[in-house]
Amino acid sequence: SVGPYQIDMTQSLGKGTFGVVYLGKEIKSQEIVAVKVINLKGNEKQLDSIAKLCQNEYQIMQRLQHSNLVKLYQFQRTQNNMYFMMEYCEGGTLDSYIARKCPHKNQLKFLAESEARIILSQIVNGYKAMYDQNIVHRDLKPSNILMNKGVAKISDFGFSKILFDFENQVLQTFAGTPLYMSPQILNPQFQRQYSTKTDIWSLGIIFYEVLYGQTPWRATSFQELMVKIQQVPIKFPSIPKVSDQMKQIISKMLKVEEKDRMSWDELFQLQIQQDQESLVN
Ligand code: ADP
Ligand code: MG
Ligand code: MG
Repeated sequence: SVGPYQIDMTQSLGKGTFGVVYLGKEIKSQEIVAVKVINLKGNEKQLDSIAKLCQNEYQIMQRLQHSNLVKLYQFQRTQNNMYFMMEYCEGGTLDSYIARKCPHKNQLKFLAESEARIILSQIVNGYKAMYDQNIVHRDLKPSNILMNKGVAKISDFGFSKILFDFENQVLQTFAGTPLYMSPQILNPQFQRQYSTKTDIWSLGIIFYEVLYGQTPWRATSFQELMVKIQQVPIKFPSIPKVSDQMKQIISKMLKVEEKDRMSWDELFQLQIQQDQESLVN
């Protein structure tokens, strides 16, 4: 056990870049928690950089308190390990949730638009709380969105950063996961300079994937993905049927040029969850 928490090392909930997430519980209350354990031993070479990254993730999680963001209960560092005691999301990742919910077998897995809208608006609400704290995420993807009793929660703040000027700050760190990376991060043509709108891009890919069961551009290499994004216009399959309004929102989120892409104000003003009929124009 670590402090007031007991960790069950036989129950792994998922694997991360540096650590493993286990089931645990708070001993007194018996409350179930998720514990991300980063083992520093055996990582001697990168020890300082891993410790720094974890410290950053901890400081960011500490600042964030919102029902659509995974909560941190406690952070602990021992000689060999770092521990993040977090809210346990019993529904697992958004991709696994969609796979379970989708009635079709052996087909693309997606949600019905009405349900997708609820989940997507929850993700945007969670992001708004990050925005209000000047925090950019930089690794938004379905495996970093967790489900707790049907409610979506943004998690994994490992690439997140606290900014001075959220709207105008120029970012340069290469971060993210290829299929969800904005063209500014993917393509050296943009000098690897990007703004926080990089997260609007990733959200646009997530919106598309939740509604269609796959990402809009797929490739087997970085290079191929980059070329497709910039040369192949986004396609919206006729099945499943998705409202024109959602398609317009996604198109605006996935503009290659940052200046053409949806702004944060526009995103936060969308009425994603409102019923579809009342939304026709
Ligand atoms: P990494 O930063 O290394 O990607 P994550 O924080 O994303 O690590 O966690 C890795 C995986 O562990 C997630 O994709 C998910 O499957 C699982 N996981 C993480 N946090 C929780 C949680 N709070 N509740 C349930 N499962 C979790
Ligand atoms: Mg992750
Ligand atoms: Mg991480």
